[in-house]
Amino acid sequence: MRTITQHVCGVIPPHILTRVAERTDHTAHEAARTTLEQMRELATDRARTFLDRGAAAKAEPPKKRRSVYDAHHAFKLPGKLVTSEHKPRSADAEINEAYDGTGATFDFFAAVFGRNSIDNRGLRIDSTVHYGVQFDNAMWTGHQLVFGDGDGRLFKRFTSSLDVIGHELTHGVTQYTAALGYTGQNGALNEHISDAFGIMVKQYTLGQAASASDWLIGATLLTPGVHGKAIRSMAAPGTAYDDPVLGRDPQPAHMRDYVNTSDDHGGVHINSGIPNHAFYLAAIALGGRTWEVLGRIWYVTLTSRLRPDADFGAFVRATVDIAGELYGNGGRVQRVVADAWGAVGIGVRLFTGVRNPVPRPATRAVRPHKAAKWRRRPAH
Ligand SMILES: [Zn+2]
Repeated sequence: MRTITQHVCGVIPPHILTRVAERTDHTAHEAARTTLEQMRELATDRARTFLDRGAAAKAEPPKKRRSVYDAHHAFKLPGKLVTSEHKPRSADAEINEAYDGTGATFDFFAAVFGRNSIDNRGLRIDSTVHYGVQFDNAMWTGHQLVFGDGDGRLFKRFTSSLDVIGHELTHGVTQYTAALGYTGQNGALNEHISDAFGIMVKQYTLGQAASASDWLIGATLLTPGVHGKAIRSMAAPGTAYDDPVLGRDPQPAHMRDYVNTSDDHGGVHINSGIPNHAFYLAAIALGGRTWEVLGRIWYVTLTSRLRPDADFGAFVRATVDIAGELYGNGGRVQRVVADAWGAVGIGVRLFTGVRNPVPRPATRAVRPHKAAKWRRRPAH
């Protein structure tokens, strides 16, 4: 038994909502203000720990169980049950999208990694739609998914984005596995992992190779009036939007632009741009389907190698180690992963294992932070 802290994770970060809330001349100001207030309320309620049931349960074949509830524009969770497995389709698009999106995410984790739902023990996936009035977010509360309708001026309905549903459910997977924190670098990794698996859910469902993906998170959420294409871009962090009301996408793509801030739990939705970009670079360099090789490395890292307080250095070292263990030390895959980290300013020294001796280990020159800590020791 261990205690796990759960976090309320919304796809729209506070830096966007705060900006909109402060614009009293904008029609979406009230919706953003209420969304922020309600998220603070939920965070207080959820800022507690619960006991994990332990990892002893027998592995069972994945079985999908979904329930969708309707909050009918109130703030009470979960609301009224409106559909579950094998029920007729609803006339309500948000109910169907929540049902289908959680199903696609379940299918992805089951087919690719053999995972039986969020907790790997067949946990029922609960979603609530029509939460609040014009609520501007989608979130994982620690227990369930919650979707707002959006204010309609800046944001459309939040069920419309499959990568956002994948992102939010992955917060649940993280909660039951690495149990990463939600502050500073461990929080940015928590956000990154949700984006990485969120984009893979979309790519897998569409049957897309890495090169065919838009690498955008929340591409369907912004209304045509907003100057922007999505909430985040993994291919080009910092370029997702630049709008008079939303402001400019603040994500860095390199360690030299790392943002030190006390806002947003230490910039968890901001600095996630750095690992996001490394993931994108590695996926493109490897080619083919992201989930087959890179996704496996990230999944093994998430489920077996991270401590809750892992920082970027620990994550980089784990992914490079696992790339070597799965695909060969000093092999192409491990070098691609290490090079992708090097390209965002997080260098890691490669030591090849004893089974593949080479005269000289390849080194990455750029090691700006805590280099000694990241250096791998040769295996004995
Ligand atoms: Zn998130």
